[in-house]
Amino acid sequence: MATFKEFRNNVKPNWCPGCGDFSVQAAIQRAAANVGLEPEQLAVISGIGCSGRISGYINAYGLHGIHGRSLPIAQGVKLANRELTVIASGGDGDGFAIGMGHTVHAIRRNLDVTYIVMDNQIYGLTKGQTSPRSAEGFKTKSTPEGSIESTLSPLEIALSAGATFVAQSFSSDLKQLTALIEAGLQHKGFSLINVFSPCVTFNKINTYDWFKENIVNLDQFPDYDPSNRIAAMTKIMETNGMLTGLIYQNNQRKSYEDLAVGFKPEGLANQDIKLSRADFDKL
Ligand code: SF4
Repeated sequence: MATFKEFRNNVKPNWCPGCGDFSVQAAIQRAAANVGLEPEQLAVISGIGCSGRISGYINAYGLHGIHGRSLPIAQGVKLANRELTVIASGGDGDGFAIGMGHTVHAIRRNLDVTYIVMDNQIYGLTKGQTSPRSAEGFKTKSTPEGSIESTLSPLEIALSAGATFVAQSFSSDLKQLTALIEAGLQHKGFSLINVFSPCVTFNKINTYDWFKENIVNLDQFPDYDPSNRIAAMTKIMETNGMLTGLIYQNNQRKSYEDLAVGFKPEGLANQDIKLSRADFDKL
């Protein structure tokens, strides 16, 4: 059985010292080993951004895709080879701005892909611009007077879109993050794991200390039931989206792959679909 170290290749990450993404990579490696995967059973597909580099640092199949497009690629990989465990990853700019259309539809499609978003509430790779996750009033080069847009809530959007697995964690909490990634990998369907992963170079507001002061860990609520969608939405709103832990899981809904198996258009058997041009014109 592979150890977590075997999921690390010999490429040295070039993230800034202290970047939260180091811990996210460590958590992915640990979770993959803990659920019994071998490197050749895992594919990591990433988008563009500092966090998008992660697919190049993990010893598994990998593809560093294009901006906001990790999910279409990851879903294609999963459909082409259902034996693979597929992780998609990227930042909040990648997944919740240019890629948001894909994120919402991947959620409602419910293919068995684990989507890990490194949410630092800024664009890091392009040297610090306001992202959809930045707070109102957030000042950067792109919003020198402070952002006048409201902050996007990926957890609320995910629940509204029919998510079957929604979790949030903090890169500093390696134990919780590893456990949530394990749960996401084992979930039969799409899992969204949003991870607060501080950008120490460009975001001087949402620092490690800021997250520690503002995070609300679900462990504080022993009676919380993650199968209750209304309770999940309420708790997200009550905590202004700062909740960490397993927020919602629905094990009743089948994954896209499970529903697609055996699907046959009415009146046709899949193996019989060999239409000639003449047949096609009759349809
Ligand atoms: Fe991490 Fe920010 Fe450095 Fe990018 S710029 S590697 S997000 S600390």
